[in-house]
Amino acid sequence: MKIESRLAQIGSQKDTVTGAVSFPIYQSTAFRHPALGESTGFDYARTKSPTRSVLEEAVAQLESGDAAFACSSGMAALQTIFAYFSSGDHLIVSLDLYGGTYRLLERVMSRFGVTATYVDTNSLDDLQSSLLTNTKAVLIETPTNPLMMVTDIEKVTSWAKANGLLTIVDNTLLTPYYQRPIELGADIVIHSATKYLGGHNDVLAGLIVTKGESLSQEMAILHNSIGAVLGPQDSFLLARGMKTLALRMERHQSNATAIANHLVTHPAISEVFYPALKAHPGHDIQNKQASGNTGIFSFKVKDARYVAPILRHVKLIAFAESLGGVESLMTYPAVQTHADIPLEIRQAIGVDDRLLRFSVGIEHVDDLIADLDQALAAAIEEVQNIHS
Ligand SMILES: *Cc1c(COP(=O)(O)O)cnc(C)c1O
Repeated sequence: MKIESRLAQIGSQKDTVTGAVSFPIYQSTAFRHPALGESTGFDYARTKSPTRSVLEEAVAQLESGDAAFACSSGMAALQTIFAYFSSGDHLIVSLDLYGGTYRLLERVMSRFGVTATYVDTNSLDDLQSSLLTNTKAVLIETPTNPLMMVTDIEKVTSWAKANGLLTIVDNTLLTPYYQRPIELGADIVIHSATKYLGGHNDVLAGLIVTKGESLSQEMAILHNSIGAVLGPQDSFLLARGMKTLALRMERHQSNATAIANHLVTHPAISEVFYPALKAHPGHDIQNKQASGNTGIFSFKVKDARYVAPILRHVKLIAFAESLGGVESLMTYPAVQTHADIPLEIRQAIGVDDRLLRFSVGIEHVDDLIADLDQALAAAIEEVQNIHS
């Protein structure tokens, strides 16, 4: 069955007792045992819970994995994955990376003896030179947040396999609708489901998908032991949001493509980072491994003084952190999402004070372009007035 149909039908044929088309919220932590040594399959909600199970089964299938685990946030999912590693283990990680992932590795995991080296994961030379005898896994984001660097997933997974390493892919920005890393050889996929999967800026959630029986069993133990699991209400909201994922991603992509093309020629803009643009260095790899593009891109204004007035003048577009929802949001990574990454690293990769990130929503593209144009014009005028 095609992915659009599987998405729309999440949970719709699972409640055989009542026939409910919308799978219910089972707000119960305890489950009655029929007799000693017998179970309905549900014992205690941290281990397994009906509404969460429907979501997890759907996600495992969508990502072509063997098991999925719903967590209380994307960070909770990453923490659960990192708990797979032991003191003394080393990870190779994408250089341009979600700020929270960097913070978790450097502020928390480092204290437990798990270390990381940050490299351009598209360069086999860089991967090879950062390989240590205690390296256990490669963690990649593609495209990266916020600079939209694209990594060739197949190239990394085959290199990782040859060196006995696991590959973990953060697939938040593309979702299984456009990209399925496990089909390209990855072992673990992680999502901040708070973003496109939930899609409505109203639920915080994370997902882990695993390939292979032993890895899936180990992740189940970690998920249950750590207990950063997703509750029934949020599991329902997430599954409900996912039913429209296909429609939303198509609109996010078409809006973002039109707006990115508009900004490329705008006098206030110096660069636009979006893999759908032919000039983007990752354009061909992106087309090879994904069937579409995400709805976020970043851009650099010509003058850092434009930033404050742009964020003050946008009306339809909200100045807010997060991405992937139906409402358009704009953020300033250097002081928000990526503030915990040291200045030298941020500047080396290009997350500087002229960079803005735009999560394009599903509003009408003409309204979004009009809002951006008036904010940019107001910014140019304000900076000119300071000069005169
Ligand atoms: C937001 C985000 C995370 C963290 O997820 P939360 O749900 O906010 O905890 C991880 N990776 C990426 C790429 C993200 O955008």
